[in-house]
Amino acid sequence: HVERIPEIQEARLALPVVAEEQKIMEAIHNNDVVVVWGSTGSGKTTQVPQFLYEAGYGAPDGPTPGLIGVTQPRRVAAVSMAKRVGDELGDAGSKVSYQIRFEASKNAQTTIKFMTDGVLLREISQDFALTKYSAIVIDEAHERSVNTDILIGMLSRIVDLRAEMARKDPKNKPLKLIIMSATLRISDFTENQRLFRHSVPPLIKAEGRQYSVTNHFSRRTNRDYVEEAFHKICKGHRKLPRGGMLVFLTGQSEIAQLAKRLKQTFDSTQGKVIKSAPVRISAAEAPLEVEDIELGGDIDNYQNDDGSDDDSIIHGLDDEDDREFDIGEESAEDSVLKVHILPLYSQLPTNQQLRVFEPPPDGSRLIVLATNVAETSLTIPGIRYVFDCGRAKEKKYDRITGVQSFEVGWISKASANQRAGRAGRTGPGHCYRLYSSAVFERDFEEYAYPEISRTPLEGVVLQLKSMGAPVVNFPFPTPPDRDSLQKAEKLLSYLGAISLDGKITKMGYELSLYPLNPRFARMLVMGTVHKVAAETIALVAALSVPEIIIPENKLGLKEPPPNTSEIRTEEDNIEAAERSRLRKQYNAVQAQLSTNASTSDCIKLNNAVCAYAHADSPEEFCEKMFLNSKALHEASQLRSQLTTIVRTHRPLALGGYEPKLPPPTEHVLNVLKQICAAGFIDQVAMRADLAPIPPDLPRKPRTAIEVPYLTLFASHVSGSVASDPAEQYVYIHPSSLLALVPVSKLPGFVIYSHLQRAAPSAINGAKTPKT
Ligand code: ADP
Ligand code: MG
Repeated sequence: HVERIPEIQEARLALPVVAEEQKIMEAIHNNDVVVVWGSTGSGKTTQVPQFLYEAGYGAPDGPTPGLIGVTQPRRVAAVSMAKRVGDELGDAGSKVSYQIRFEASKNAQTTIKFMTDGVLLREISQDFALTKYSAIVIDEAHERSVNTDILIGMLSRIVDLRAEMARKDPKNKPLKLIIMSATLRISDFTENQRLFRHSVPPLIKAEGRQYSVTNHFSRRTNRDYVEEAFHKICKGHRKLPRGGMLVFLTGQSEIAQLAKRLKQTFDSTQGKVIKSAPVRISAAEAPLEVEDIELGGDIDNYQNDDGSDDDSIIHGLDDEDDREFDIGEESAEDSVLKVHILPLYSQLPTNQQLRVFEPPPDGSRLIVLATNVAETSLTIPGIRYVFDCGRAKEKKYDRITGVQSFEVGWISKASANQRAGRAGRTGPGHCYRLYSSAVFERDFEEYAYPEISRTPLEGVVLQLKSMGAPVVNFPFPTPPDRDSLQKAEKLLSYLGAISLDGKITKMGYELSLYPLNPRFARMLVMGTVHKVAAETIALVAALSVPEIIIPENKLGLKEPPPNTSEIRTEEDNIEAAERSRLRKQYNAVQAQLSTNASTSDCIKLNNAVCAYAHADSPEEFCEKMFLNSKALHEASQLRSQLTTIVRTHRPLALGGYEPKLPPPTEHVLNVLKQICAAGFIDQVAMRADLAPIPPDLPRKPRTAIEVPYLTLFASHVSGSVASDPAEQYVYIHPSSLLALVPVSKLPGFVIYSHLQRAAPSAINGAKTPKT
């Protein structure tokens, strides 16, 4: 029996999920797998674990003694939801704990355990039957993270196994699996016969959001959404009644930039830092969590707007906007209200993320600037206004070229509604969408695609192997195609992560501990073994970030179309001279960046990253060297994150993060090149004239970029068009250092980072040049 304080008791009764308690518990009693749907704020996360607890799950001397496990996609959600459920349970609060990477609050009394999905995956690899648990709740299943998908696949088999064990010996108890989703896109789970083979899991719906949220669209969509957010927040702060603001942006540096401007504009208060006293978990025990690494900073990649001319947008000052903030309930607040600004993003240490849950200092308005970490799960008390930029930084992956990138793109309608829902958790609220309803209707997908469809599979396959799971027959909610899975398995065997018979090796196990693509993990491990850990980290960072060096074609050096009047004006001459000056300068800089690189583009990139760390003024340095400062900023952040990761696995390999490295010796350069080759060992191309059947070329190539190469392992490009041999050739990209090598000196073999399909007319009629 649970004694709750009257206030909590009353609040619970208003939750839609609580009205369905009996239905939910009956379904769980009668089925091993149940799906619960309830829109955001309906009470799923806080209430369902309590239903289970009150029904006797987790009671040591009852019929279902195992723990109640609840997974969350993110750390801050696991910690804060554990705290909330503990508070709601009153005297029984000590029975709730959490476990996230490196940190746990679990004790002997624990009955309900909140954890990240990485933690549970790790536990499955240690005890496949999950015998400690009587029930597992998978929360936020609609987010469709790779970890959630793998967990659901695993659990579908574990539930069967436990049922079988219970049939054989009644001392064993079956495992209950509850999948919770805030959207109704759940047919991938419920109608997937490979996943749940015996019966379709029942779906229990708890309809209705708790408080109303009014959505306000912008009239126009400003491409510079940070600017737009700044204006709307300033105006909102002056006009809107009391209540916290939650602002959705796409990344850390945008958040820092906006926080700074807001602090300069308004009087702001300082929050105190909360100390947490968690149990420390050693690195070797710690599970993998995606949040450990955030590739892809804030590369400019704004999507199209609704065609309006940017200059014509008057930021938030027109009458229409005034009406937008005219809520008409309370009078506008006195303008002396201070602001209390807090950032919230996954790279922020957990105890700092938790600051958003503390009440702001008296007389100030809480303004939380967040990434989509705050999109699901969290209830930040007092948030009444949401400002949504409508974008998120998304992982993109091109299976054909193998290029992985992070791009800012529109979120889905489902995500936009989740974001808006954050304003209606503790009272009615408003959501200001920084985009027009036309853009929302036209450009937003209904739901986001599952992450597994946007991810290189080698990491997924390695994870399955490390858990001893089958790969091709794995019951994925959305199965990737077999070819791609097999290709990933091949790559892993080239990397030495799995043996010829498909078993994970010791190396593979180590690689599986890095929250990185196995290629890069392999390179880092090699770097530590060869005592060039810090140098390899810089190299991996250089290879992970797109477009560090601004390509020549983006300098605007193209000759203008021929002048039809045939008379060259003075102006034409000046422009031509300017172009030639810029081109000379560009070439000189390229030569400087290529110091010691000889024919290696990866060393050139590495030089850029290392030189950046030495620059007194990074901005000026980038300007002068034709480098992309955002990309380099990102690469340097990545270096520091990678250092932490390497140190957790190989504590003796290197000291703290030291951005300024001494110039590499000849030996180090050689080792780095070998490490790079090892990481891309499946991407080797051979000069075509060395092949058993050399090409029959119409004329001798005169420059390096005309020399055909053949990929050693089937690439998608060559594999798919086997009929015409000419179609199989790949060529050196003109921006590569190799393009400058005389034809007679071109290497027989090259390692490439990716293939890129050229525009049909490009280079000598070739269809597939490569970099
Ligand atoms: P769901 O998981 O369905 O989105 P939750 O169970 O997380 O919903 O939350 C249900 C409601 O409980 C919230 O809308 C809010 O009113 C209340 N609540 C949850 N956490 C807190 C908290 N930390 N402080 C105040 N109220 C909270
Ligand atoms: Mg929830």
